[in-house]
Amino acid sequence: MKTKLAVIGDPIEHSLSPCIHSAVLESFKTPWEYQKIHVTANKLGDFIKNISYGLCGFNVTMPHKTTIMQYLDYIDSEAKSFNAVNTVKVKDGKLLGYNTDGEGCLRAILDRGYSCRGANFVILGAGGAASTIALKLATEGANKITVLNRTLSSVEKLSKRIKNTVNYKIDIGLLSTDAISKHCKDCDILINCTPLGMQGISENFSDFSFLSSLKSDALVFDLIYSPPETCLLKEAAKRGLCTMNGLDMLIYQGLVADEIFFEKQLDFLFYKDAIIRNIEKIKK
Ligand code: NAP
Repeated sequence: MKTKLAVIGDPIEHSLSPCIHSAVLESFKTPWEYQKIHVTANKLGDFIKNISYGLCGFNVTMPHKTTIMQYLDYIDSEAKSFNAVNTVKVKDGKLLGYNTDGEGCLRAILDRGYSCRGANFVILGAGGAASTIALKLATEGANKITVLNRTLSSVEKLSKRIKNTVNYKIDIGLLSTDAISKHCKDCDILINCTPLGMQGISENFSDFSFLSSLKSDALVFDLIYSPPETCLLKEAAKRGLCTMNGLDMLIYQGLVADEIFFEKQLDFLFYKDAIIRNIEKIKK
């Protein structure tokens, strides 16, 4: 029997999900299919009724990560606390929801040789990705998490949510060069969760001087993977800092999803190389 998986979203054309999951499916040497399914916000209910049950599972991207939750028979605790689902497994006619973004981020950090336990983090941005990551780091024993955002009300909301969910107090503030510099002084890992520097976005950080406040062994992690090296990462590398873009996190959240679909542990490093080759192929 064919293993059928898919990714749903709007837009969906540029999704790299097929590059990730095809590497795993191919290695099983059994028939498979991985589809990109364009599902607009008002057609999510139709997708659930008509298509989803023919699949073994599907990945979920914008704009459905929260709205999908009303259709699911089970939502795991991490996805519930993030209020977002990016992975749905179809099992015995039931739809089971998970969120693998936090775990993907954590594995990317660990893979670089950095630890979360006892570390100090500065997170820039307070949207969906920042919330997921802050919550994961809080549960993984981070010593201090500071979240700086352009809009204070969003970061206040994030802070309340983390306090209520895992009883962890994060530091918050407005995103400014001075504030980043101040908090960078004792920071081990700086994570950019804003779209500043992303391909197709004209805005960028106006000043990178805050990078000079970081310790020489700090990691600068930009969630963006297109372009592969943002101005933030270029400037960090110029200062001799260790850098990482968002590709590892993207790959690992996909592999964690595959572990859920196939109910087995996967060798991440083995698949990572195959996935990177798949991504390079489609760029040509
Ligand atoms: P989101 O929910 O829309 O949140 C965006 C955040 O960025 C908000 O805090 C927003 O601040 C801030 N922001 C937006 N434009 C800004 C600007 N011009 N100046 C300063 N701050 C700005 O988005 P998201 O889902 O969290 O994604 C954030 C980034 O992470 C994107 O680049 C996305 O591609 C990337 N990402 C990567 C992965 C991966 O696997 N590598 C996974 C998820 C996301 P306000 O509250 O003020 O609007």
